Amino acid sequence: MPRLTSFPAFVRVADRVVAIVGGGPAAAAKVRLLGETQARLRVVAAHPEDELRADVARLGATLIEEPFAPRHLDDAVLVFAATEDETADTAIADAARAVRIPVNVVDRPALCDFTTPALVNRAPLAIAIGTEGAAPVLARHVRAKIEAMLAPDLGRLVAFADGLRATVAQMLPAGEARRRFWARAFEGGVAARALAGDLAGARDEALRELSAGADVAGYVWLIGAGPGATDLLTLRAQRVLQEVDVIVHDALVPSEVIAMGRRDAERISVGKRKGHHEATQDEIETILVREAKAGRRVARLKSGDPMVFGRVGEEMAALTRAGVPFEVVPGVTAAFAAAASAKVPLTLRGVASSLVFATGHDLDGRTLPDWSGLALGGATVAVYMGRSVAGAVAERLMEAGLSGHTPVAAVENAARPGERVFAGRLADLPALAHEADAGAPVLILIGEALAQADIGDARPLAAAAVGTTAAA
Ligand code: SAH
Repeated sequence: MPRLTSFPAFVRVADRVVAIVGGGPAAAAKVRLLGETQARLRVVAAHPEDELRADVARLGATLIEEPFAPRHLDDAVLVFAATEDETADTAIADAARAVRIPVNVVDRPALCDFTTPALVNRAPLAIAIGTEGAAPVLARHVRAKIEAMLAPDLGRLVAFADGLRATVAQMLPAGEARRRFWARAFEGGVAARALAGDLAGARDEALRELSAGADVAGYVWLIGAGPGATDLLTLRAQRVLQEVDVIVHDALVPSEVIAMGRRDAERISVGKRKGHHEATQDEIETILVREAKAGRRVARLKSGDPMVFGRVGEEMAALTRAGVPFEVVPGVTAAFAAAASAKVPLTLRGVASSLVFATGHDLDGRTLPDWSGLALGGATVAVYMGRSVAGAVAERLMEAGLSGHTPVAAVENAARPGERVFAGRLADLPALAHEADAGAPVLILIGEALAQADIGDARPLAAAAVGTTAAA
């Protein structure tokens, strides 16, 4: 194992002076970095640039507009030489060393007593990433990954734990039981509540788990998995998937997304795909309640956004009835993914100012869908579950007076492998029933807003085009 040249330590700077010498962007960057701490910033610059002035003002730092002199380092605990001029920086470093204050010289690792890390700040929790000054860009790259893994309000959890520590120490003996309590608290319902800002709820839950004999409460996240691409998951969804014990998912959620969960999490498929129901809605609700009641952390993974045609209302009601705490993590709904794929706007100034999420699923007989009036009024309509009823939808809308020339787009497998975009007019929509792959999800968009877009490379949606081959 290679040994480090530097020892990572956290230097206490609250209410102490940190001196930064320099007037340009390098100095401004250090001012911003140190501005994440409670240090008293003393900036020395004979000719400060506007950017630096702005940062100084925003952070309440002291600006000394003089050429550098060793007395500017009086009382400082750290010094940054950031003039970006080698001779000047070397003189500052010498002055700092003469009075034994550790110094950092920007971009000159050889002259540094210490280097500055890339910082993930969840105060009081901090993660410092360093490469001994050798590859700062790599350090920033690693930081971005860690940023994505950690809840933005993680610091709250530290404060919360601090407030609970004495109580826990009283109620649980030091050792395994206490360690297990904290491990659970930081991952389960207690943490979820604290992170959501419900500190009182988190405390109640923690006390409940602490009191002898109480069964550990589970927690359910109803998560939108997005249209199918793994990188269209939200960071929150990704984080929760890494934590849960059980993942309950629909058939429409691709295996790559399900694979993003913790490796040893149990996967339960409740695949509802047209034609073959694996579990009824009642059974799904029973599974969610059963798993949570067993003290497990459960992710209910649904395609798109859970609140859009996801029957999540019933699941939330079942969880509420059973007293299981839950929260909802939104996702990118199919209409948004389809609009992005087809490069068509859903609203357009002066043309379409409302958007309807509609379903073709319950369209039967001769009834006009209840949203047809909105379509006539100029709204853009996104039709979910509409492939097999596309013809009926078009017919009803035209009977109601919508022009057969109204532009439509249909996106099959939006944001998934095998994506195909079809474009045409409302009168052509019935052709979709033969065009689209019977097993693939299709989202239909209807409205004048689509007319303005350039959908030149889409497949024509017309009876004549039946039989086009799959996308390359
Ligand atoms: N909650 C989901 C919708 C579930 S209903 C969401 O917010 O997207 C299922 C319907 O969604 C499908 O019949 C199809 O119309 C649409 N859909 C879901 N994923 C899709 C995708 N990747 N491409 C096109 N349509 C999709």
